[in-house]
Parts: sequence; C-alpha cells; structure tokens
Amino acid sequence: MSEETKYFISVIVPLFNEKQSLPELYQRLTAMLERTARGHELILVDDGSSDGSWQLIRSLREKDPRVKVISFSRNYGKSPALAEGFKVARGEIVVTIDADLQDNPDEIPGLIDKLDEGYDLVSGWKLDRKDPISKTFPSKIWNFVTSLVTGIKLHDFNCGLKAYRGEVVKRISIYGELHRFIPVLVSWEGFKVGEKKVSHFERKFGRSKYGARRYLNGIFDLMTVMFITRRSTTPLHLFGRIAFSFLSIGFLINLYFLVQWIAGKGLHVRPLMVIGLIMIVIAIQIGSIGLLAELLSSGMEKKLSYREYQVDE
Ligand code: UDP
Ligand code: MG
Repeated sequence: MSEETKYFISVIVPLFNEKQSLPELYQRLTAMLERTARGHELILVDDGSSDGSWQLIRSLREKDPRVKVISFSRNYGKSPALAEGFKVARGEIVVTIDADLQDNPDEIPGLIDKLDEGYDLVSGWKLDRKDPISKTFPSKIWNFVTSLVTGIKLHDFNCGLKAYRGEVVKRISIYGELHRFIPVLVSWEGFKVGEKKVSHFERKFGRSKYGARRYLNGIFDLMTVMFITRRSTTPLHLFGRIAFSFLSIGFLINLYFLVQWIAGKGLHVRPLMVIGLIMIVIAIQIGSIGLLAELLSSGMEKKLSYREYQVDE
C-alpha cells in the first residue's frame, strides 16, 4: 500500500467473553494499523461479556486515545454489536474483525488494496477454514444456497473479516442475526461487493459462541433477507399471484358444481367440492397476508432504504 492510498481506518471488533484473546489482538491490530493507516480508531464493542473483557478494554482505552469502547448491558448478539460500531465509525475505510484471533489482522491491507480496485465491500473468504467439520460442512451448504438464492457470487458470506468504504456502513441496517447477510444487503443498496481469500486459524482461547442452531435460524433469516431485498416494496405482487391462482381454481371447481345444480342434478358433498372450497379459503388467507405485508412494507421502505440519487438540472 503506497503513501497516497493510505486512509483513516476504523476497525470494529465485536466481542463477547474474549478476555484472553484481547491483549494479543490489540497489539497485532495496532502494529498493523500504525504501518498501513493514515490514522485509525479501534472500536471495541463489548456485547455483554461477563469474563472481565469490559475492564480490560477500558484499561486499553485509558492507555490509548485511539481506542473507543461501547458496552452492552447484556448479550445482544454480533449483529447489534456491529450495528453500534457502524454508527460511531468515522473512517474512510471501515474494517470488521472477530476478537478471537481466528482472523489475521495482517490480511487487512490486502482487503483495502482490493477495495481500491473499485469495490465498496471486500469480504474475506476463509478458504482453509480451521473449524470442526460439524461447522465447516453445514457452512459450505449454507453459503452455496445463499449464493444460489441471492444470485451473489461469494463463497463465504459470513466471514468476520471485511473491509468497507465508509459510506457503506452508514447505509445498511442490521439487526437480529443478519450480519451473515451483510454482502447481500450491501449489494442490494447498489454497492459493488467482492471477496478475497484470507487465512484462518483455530480458536486459541475460549469457545465459539455459535452452535448448529444457527443454521436453522439461517434459513428463516434468508427468507427475511429475500423479502427485504426483493419484495419489500411489492409483497402483494407475489402473494396476490398465489392467491389469484388458488381462487381461480377454486372458482372453476365450484362453477362446475353450480352448473350441475342448475342443470337439475342433485348435489352431494364430493371430495372435489371440498377441495374447491378449501382453495377459496386459502386464497382469501394468502391474499390478506399479502395485503398486510404490503402495508408493513410501506412503513419499512421508509426505514430500511433511503435512496441516493442525483438530479441534473
Ligand atoms: N460475538 C459477539 N456476540 C455474540 C457472539 C459472538 O460479539 O453474541 C463475537 C465473538 O466474540 C467473536 C465474533 O463475534 O469476536 C465471532 O464469534 P465466534 O468466534 O463465536 O463465531 P465462530 O467463529 O465460531 O463462527
Ligand atoms: Mg470465531
């Protein structure tokens, strides 16, 4: 990285009970930033730790004015921790990295160089991931499905190590566990997303905060993201189509029985008749859900996305 391409960098570290890793992380990050940045801030977000991480980051703050600390009163999760970090970050470049030393701080300059090739977000790709197979295998499938469904060609959506252009983090809104979909949300805002292979290490201290349960939640989150990104402005277009198909089939079936009745054939309950009625009931339900989604999303539209555009006069 040359002198001209040096930036003011904000590094955000979400941490939950990572006391043992923090001294080494601080030391390695600071050394790297002093070499590569035009100035930096280190934003440490304590997500309700109970192991003394908070006291430790407070003491770092006292020694080093470039350190900023945020503390949650309880454990809210990685997404809220990142979201708070994003709010306060002032960097031209914003970097996120896990606190557990599984990511290598020395990969950061490479990610920033890649940003300079014209990307707005460069996400790490843990090609040789050092985690148990119980984690790496489901994660491969999860990444494949996410890429397939969203159409975004990445191998590793949920890498803790990412570099962003400063304005990007101000435009995305993450809550719950949506941090796994940051590249999708960023790309949907019209930014260019890329990836770069990064090294990965085994966890030295403490233990992983996420188990297999995350993958089930991941499926629900993927649905949420699909709605946020694709259908949020017009959910009734989707629900309405489904409702309309059900209604048409139900209507035709019942029309058939009506014609029979008019023709003087006595009616008695038949399986087809029940199916016809059920289809109409389902159509009404799906249609009403669509209408509610439409109403909700007109509110969400205002909250989630503000459009950036230019007017030439
Ligand atoms: N983390 C957090 N809040 C949580 C869970 C995790 O801030 O509720 C942090 C954690 O301290 C670490 C990063 O998020 O810095 C990634 O978590 P972890 O290493 O447990 O995930 P894994 O590497 O096993 O996917
Ligand atoms: Mg980890």
